[in-house]
Amino acid sequence: MNLQEYQAKELFARFGLPVLPGQVASTPEEAQDVARALGGTVVIKAQVLVGGRGKAGGVQLARTPDEALVKAREILGLTIKGLPVRKVLVAQAAEIARELYLSIVLDRSRKLPLIMLSAEGGVDIEEVARTTPEKIVRHPIPLDGLRGYQARELFQPLLRDGKLVAQAADILLKLWRTYQEGDCQLAEINPLAVTPDGRVLALDAKVILDDNADFRHREWATWRDPEDESPGSRLARDKGLSYVKLEGDIGCVVNGAGLAMATMDLIKHYGGEPANFLDIGGSSNPEKVTAALRIITSESKARAIFFNIFGGITRCDDVANGIVQSLAESPLAVPLVIRLTGTNEDVARKILSEHGLSATTSMDEGVRTVIEKAQEVMV
Ligand code: GDP
Ligand code: MN
Repeated sequence: MNLQEYQAKELFARFGLPVLPGQVASTPEEAQDVARALGGTVVIKAQVLVGGRGKAGGVQLARTPDEALVKAREILGLTIKGLPVRKVLVAQAAEIARELYLSIVLDRSRKLPLIMLSAEGGVDIEEVARTTPEKIVRHPIPLDGLRGYQARELFQPLLRDGKLVAQAADILLKLWRTYQEGDCQLAEINPLAVTPDGRVLALDAKVILDDNADFRHREWATWRDPEDESPGSRLARDKGLSYVKLEGDIGCVVNGAGLAMATMDLIKHYGGEPANFLDIGGSSNPEKVTAALRIITSESKARAIFFNIFGGITRCDDVANGIVQSLAESPLAVPLVIRLTGTNEDVARKILSEHGLSATTSMDEGVRTVIEKAQEVMV
């Protein structure tokens, strides 16, 4: 789950990271009230889950509550990279002398968390990463953790000044605790700002939480905003399906994550592109099948749908019933290819044939057929 900046800053504050006070607002009037309560210059920031808000006009300073009203109205009217701005964060503004970049991210290839640090933070960090990647320092965090001297060593060449280095190192150690104890996949501060009076502050916050750790963080539920999730992802979560939307055109409904991965591999092997990863799980509730089809047809570019079921605990007849039931409720506009084998497959085949459907037992054949069907739809 991606957190909005105001939520990420709440998390940061819990771990003692230096964020400036602020509050989220959904109307210009609310933003004005917050600005009045904070006093002084405030920064008004679009709360949308994309980067580059600054460049899109979604981050603006306001010196007075009246100006905050005007700026908030403007920002609440924006659509940034396709996302309408529904909320703004109104926060105390800081003066900025320098902008650094600091993040901790899970590096899957190293199998370790990785610190990324750059003296050239701010709105152009993507540009820095592309054109001068050597300006981003990468430091994997060893299994036994991060020590104070290591944090100081990392910042020493960038900041020089002892007081700044000490503050920045303290921030890094706290960010590491946030990442670790907060179960993050990414914890990013950009800009990590140095003020003219020598303070180091987290002026922006980006956090991606590791959904696998959901069970040990009750508070996460309060952060989940249904409007930030696609309807398909929401339905998948409600029905207990693991679902990842992809860019291809072959919809997949599979039981078991391993088989789902193998199915995607085989589709790619034969030159196709999966439209999604979808695991309906070990049980075989017809409702899950209905939900699965609804998810795929509603939000992917699927030109054909492939069911790949290996009946173990999952009973093939239950899946067949689910398919039949679901098609009766809402017929499919694209071809359906079914492969099933295992528990109760004979019963399943009978159910399917009674409804004019058939199924192969061979995964290989099923995959090749569905790719062909998808191509036929294209022409
Ligand atoms: P992003 O563009 O989506 O990453 O949004 P940021 O929160 O990083 O803001 C973009 C830029 O706005 C920052 O790099 C800063 O230059 C500027 N900015 C953000 N907060 C403040 C602030 O409190 N004071 C000042 N002067 N500038 C700010
Ligand atoms: Mn930023």
